[in-house]
Amino acid sequence: MFGPPGSGKGTYASRLSAKLSIPHISTGDLVRDEIKNQSDLGRKINEYSSHGLLVPDNVICKLLQNRISQPDCANGFILDGFPRTIPQAQELEKSTTTDMVINLQVPDAVITERLTSRLTCRNCGAIYNKQFLKPKIEGQCDKCDGRLYQREDDQPNVIQQRLQLYRKQTQPLLEYYHAKNLVRNISNKEAGVPPETIVEEIMNVIQVT
Ligand code: AMP
Repeated sequence: MFGPPGSGKGTYASRLSAKLSIPHISTGDLVRDEIKNQSDLGRKINEYSSHGLLVPDNVICKLLQNRISQPDCANGFILDGFPRTIPQAQELEKSTTTDMVINLQVPDAVITERLTSRLTCRNCGAIYNKQFLKPKIEGQCDKCDGRLYQREDDQPNVIQQRLQLYRKQTQPLLEYYHAKNLVRNISNKEAGVPPETIVEEIMNVIQVT
């Protein structure tokens, strides 16, 4: 799943994972887990992540590698938030093949609107939105009853920093994947489109290709 922060990668990937019966791997979740564990590595990672900066390639590639070597990944997986740089893509190619890159095209105004009202479950990482995707009980995850919170990097000043970084460091990757003829665009110009609508579009793209 490819696209700027707030384009819906995690929201759609978790639903696609259930439909396709393959795991959804969010490197952002792996990073947050590591921070939560308060390991030395977690503390180092937090210095980057809390400021909206990318974690160094060697660190994130190691976390990803550990995850995709688990048995549940044997039949494939959906990556969300990885790769974000060309060296990461090259590293990924050493251990697996990429079937498709779903590129989510969302205007900046929609992204900012979404991220400033996004809520995340502290326990399972599920994503909600105060305006567009409310939990059944305020402040509580529908799936695991965990507490919902606003991510530190979903504050307006950090959002701008993440968007700039996306354009500079991650968008060039699209050219890399275009050259391999792997990119499929999914456009979503409004903030309140139900996730199921977009997921259906993605399923159609996956099935016809
Ligand atoms: P996300 O949940 O995908 O927005 O990721 C949250 C944060 O985790 C990012 O702002 C980065 O600090 C870090 N992160 C996640 N994935 C990567 C990646 N592929 N490369 C570098 N840093 C990452």
